[in-house]
Amino acid sequence: MSWRDVKPIDCDVHVVVPHTGVLLPYLDDYWRDYVTVRGVRNLDMTSYPPTAPLTSRPDWRPETGHAGTDLALLRRHVFDELGAQIAICNVIWGAQALHHHHLAAALCRAVNSWLAAEWLDQEPRLRASIVVPWQNAAHAVEEIERCAADKRFVQVLLLAMADQPLGREHYWPIYEAAVRHGLPVAIHAGSAYRHAPTSLGWPSTLLEDYVGQASAFQNQLMSLICEGALAKFPNLKVVLVESGVTWLPAFMWRANKIWRAMRMETPWVDRPPAAILRDQVRLTLQPFDAPPDAALVEQVIEQIDSDRTILFATDYPHWQFDEDEVIPPGLSADLARRVLVDNALGTYPRLESLS
Ligand code: ZN
Repeated sequence: MSWRDVKPIDCDVHVVVPHTGVLLPYLDDYWRDYVTVRGVRNLDMTSYPPTAPLTSRPDWRPETGHAGTDLALLRRHVFDELGAQIAICNVIWGAQALHHHHLAAALCRAVNSWLAAEWLDQEPRLRASIVVPWQNAAHAVEEIERCAADKRFVQVLLLAMADQPLGREHYWPIYEAAVRHGLPVAIHAGSAYRHAPTSLGWPSTLLEDYVGQASAFQNQLMSLICEGALAKFPNLKVVLVESGVTWLPAFMWRANKIWRAMRMETPWVDRPPAAILRDQVRLTLQPFDAPPDAALVEQVIEQIDSDRTILFATDYPHWQFDEDEVIPPGLSADLARRVLVDNALGTYPRLESLS
């Protein structure tokens, strides 16, 4: 049986804002004038340059325009060909990187309204993450409150690199609002580019930037644990999207070992970090960075010690998608079913009506 027959829930599909013009109907008069007069034509994220090979598989790239901008193509690729029953849209766009937090709030609001009207309203199998102006937590909470009334928004979207570590209290109102509305918080690969994307400084290539994201995810998990955010919000679910998977066991081991020596620093962390991560953190499958060896894959899953952790994702239209090998060899039928469907239902309360 193919994984397609299980009708997976795809937890990471990218819808792309082709240019700021599509958002104009969703901006109020002031911001429409502002964007027009200032010539804010686009805010493509440097993390995903539209023409870079990483940004789209060749067979998913449209003849003209950016990949991820055409609903008919998305419908064909994700639902018809891959057999997804539901797909969660993540918009990675530069509004989250702006220094002007009022403009960021206006553009995030416009992105979410555009998503609802031009994607969710047109395709009932789509769900979406709320893009929030995290530069200002009050603005972010306001946007969560506005969108949460629409049950098709199933999580809150942040990026792997912000202007400060995500465990800091600046972000806690976002977590409080997310928990209150039954919304997990996704941390997707990407950066607001307040800092170099590697701890060594600014790299020369997108390759270094992208591979280096794994260390940002690790640092964010330590921040969420050590600053007490995960302890403060025990019902908060954090979904790492496009983080890779196989670094997690080594990271858990290291975090547990050093925590034992240094736990006097963090009295609110009352159990080993790996136990907290198993309860509150999930990871999407693509890219799956394991060698093509069933025994090794089985070992990684065993070391994570949870069959609830991994969520299916294609990362459409990015090139990370492994096609027929998307479900790693060595997964039992039961575990494959959990990864493809059940774990998403367990993670996203707003998908429960599907079960
Ligand atoms: Zn992605």
